[in-house]
Amino acid sequence: MYDVAIIGGGPGGLSFAIHAENIKSIVIEEHKSIGVPVHCGECISDLCLRKFELRPPKDAIARAVNGVNVIFPGNSETVLNEKGYVLNKDKFEQYLADIALKKGAEIKTGARVENIERKEGYWSLKTSEGTIDAKMIVDASGQNQLISQLLNINKPSKKVIGIQYRMDNVELNDYLNFYLWQEYAPHGYVWVIPKSMKENGMANVGLVTDDIKNAKQNLDRFIKEKGWTDIKFSFGGMIPSSGPLKQTYYTGVLLVGDAAGFTSPLFEGGTHLGLMSGKLAAQVASDAVRTNDYSQNKLKEYEELWKKEFPPYNTIIKGKDALYDKLTTDDLEEIGKLLPKNFDNFGWKEKVLLGAKMMIKNPVLYKKNILDALFALAYSEAKYYGW
Ligand SMILES: Cc1cc2nc3c(=O)[nH]c(=O)nc-3n(C[C@H](O)[C@H](O)[C@H](O)COP(=O)(O)OP(=O)(O)OC[C@H]3O[C@@H](n4cnc5c(N)ncnc54)[C@H](O)[C@@H]3O)c2cc1C
Repeated sequence: MYDVAIIGGGPGGLSFAIHAENIKSIVIEEHKSIGVPVHCGECISDLCLRKFELRPPKDAIARAVNGVNVIFPGNSETVLNEKGYVLNKDKFEQYLADIALKKGAEIKTGARVENIERKEGYWSLKTSEGTIDAKMIVDASGQNQLISQLLNINKPSKKVIGIQYRMDNVELNDYLNFYLWQEYAPHGYVWVIPKSMKENGMANVGLVTDDIKNAKQNLDRFIKEKGWTDIKFSFGGMIPSSGPLKQTYYTGVLLVGDAAGFTSPLFEGGTHLGLMSGKLAAQVASDAVRTNDYSQNKLKEYEELWKKEFPPYNTIIKGKDALYDKLTTDDLEEIGKLLPKNFDNFGWKEKVLLGAKMMIKNPVLYKKNILDALFALAYSEAKYYGW
């Protein structure tokens, strides 16, 4: 009998295992190796690594970047200088798994959780490799959101698709380049993420969009326009995009990471949120194990903790909808021209003044909720879990 069975060995589940003090825990991962296959653009902020005191080995870091460069239609650019890294995400997750093992967690790979059954005071998990019993479950199954489905406690998140190519011979700079180009990524954006130093121009080039059917075709159009042809392989996956699920706790259950809907509302990154939600869940679970109280009332503390820590999701999603759905390519081009070249030290006062300036220039923008859109952009910093 384990105290906690963690479904999924991604950042959320592994962070839980790392932070679960005095808990007999097991991570159950369906793939044979932790971190494989990679389904991520692989960016992480320096702030995130520092916050969790993570010092990944050299082979887990592909390169450092200076921050985020947002490119508007018409090619106006605005940068947010904020140090970060492009990971080799498989190696990074294996590094997390090593820490979890050192802290006493068990990890079972190649075992898929297929069903769960409530027994007297504990859960019985049916996996492809046999049954595992535990007093508590942590659902860290990513966008599968397994426990929400099996217990029918939440409607599935809305999801967008993230599709990308690993390419060589791409024109690179030292930033994560996010293109707000709706003609290629409706309700989303295109990214060019440098994977190497400039010599061979290795990059993850991809896009996130709700136009699932045309995503690949649109990515192909984008690289064609850029004149880049050297595709090595493609990879990607689905990303929850509608914010936290209604219920992130249940009797003997906590939901973390993508399984709880925790991805960044604007740029859809989720590693930082996965790590933090795993940590907060471990804090509550440690106490539940100590007091032998796995009731909903006890586990509700988790929701209180993440609501205090994470940014105001509903407001940012409203801003994202304004940015992606209401503003046309021409509007975005105009906004791009008015934004400062550099977003560093651009405070709330400056943002409001800028919004006013834009509305004077183009009063229709007011009706298109330009202020909400600027508000969402303002939350793209790492300290707000923006990337
Ligand atoms: C194309 C793309 C690009 C992205 N780029 C970035 C980025 O650059 N930066 C960033 O921060 N985020 C990015 N994200 C989001 C990020 O990958 C996720 O938010 C993050 O990995 C969430 O961590 P997690 O642990 O919650 O889930 P996951 O990393 O998805 O891990 C879940 C794990 O659970 C396992 N699992 C699922 N079901 C079962 C089961 N039934 N039994 C056993 N195991 C199971 C899976 O195999 C998986 O290993 C991107 C996502 C995509 C799709």
